Amino acid sequence: MVVRPWTITERNGRAYARGVGDDKAGVAVHLAALRAFEGLPPVGVTVFVEGEEEIGSPSLANLLEENHDLLRADVFVIADSGNWDVGAPAFTTTLRGLVDCTVEVRVLDHALHSGSFGGVAPDALTALCRLLATLHDERGNVAIEGLRAGPGPDLDYPLDRLEAETGVLDGVGYLGDGPVVERLWTKPSATVLAIDATRVLDASNTLAPVARAKVSVRIAPDEDPAVAMQALTDHLLRHAPWGAQVLVTDGSQGAGSVIPFQGPVADAARAAFTEAWGTEPVLIGQGGSIPMVADFQRAFPEATVLVTAVCDPDSRAHGIDESLDLADFATACLAETLFLDRLRRGDA
Ligand SMILES: [Zn+2]
Repeated sequence: MVVRPWTITERNGRAYARGVGDDKAGVAVHLAALRAFEGLPPVGVTVFVEGEEEIGSPSLANLLEENHDLLRADVFVIADSGNWDVGAPAFTTTLRGLVDCTVEVRVLDHALHSGSFGGVAPDALTALCRLLATLHDERGNVAIEGLRAGPGPDLDYPLDRLEAETGVLDGVGYLGDGPVVERLWTKPSATVLAIDATRVLDASNTLAPVARAKVSVRIAPDEDPAVAMQALTDHLLRHAPWGAQVLVTDGSQGAGSVIPFQGPVADAARAAFTEAWGTEPVLIGQGGSIPMVADFQRAFPEATVLVTAVCDPDSRAHGIDESLDLADFATACLAETLFLDRLRRGDA
């Protein structure tokens, strides 16, 4: 039997298929809420399915501008985030942004024999490693000067869950100081994504003249990406070891979001979700970006944006074993239905 990645398989109360949670279920939750009203919801609803989120929504900002009147609404419900846990609903109120760059280190105008000049002439890979090491302090806190770091919500991230999710090896510590939710959601993080250098298989006793790395920095939800990119560039130039020539080339930039959860619409959403789930929703952040949230906020600053969820910590979005908890999915459909009903009743 051939099971294709998009064929849904049901096991132990979960549906398994590529994209089943992120983000087909997000579309299905809206359709289910409309179906509950037999296609005639009690308030005006525009369904907008955005298919470019995974590549950063490059067309969306223009589209929102060109169709501003058509898409204008009091509330935008974006069902593309994660719940706090199975059975524990959440609204996402912060998303980190991202900047990245390529950094090139040059130390020689040609390669040298390491036996002839090692000990005096530097090699570019060692210089690059020393430079990259300055991105963090000894304890793993990001050491790039001038980056913002916001306070996180008052939530304890369960350590056993972190262990299960990350698979950190025995004896390997976690990075940084302070509450885990701040390190995941509201503080910057820096990662070396890749290095261009001689492959181990091809290594010879040579001092490399040039080496290159791609560095990615997740930035605080309220950070200006242009400011963060400048801070990253300044840091890399200022910490050039041994006077090495450092060239920084900007990569991509994406803003994070602070999504206020307050006012009558948020109150109606909280009440509807509490009724559906039997427990109060939690306000959480996400360490990653959903750039389209910022696009909607910019295009419709007077509207309430609600970032809701269908996935849970076991959903493994983008993985080969991506899955969706079917009971939670049904509850998410019910919650959105009850929310539309509350909007009709004028609770908001
Ligand atoms: Zn995704």
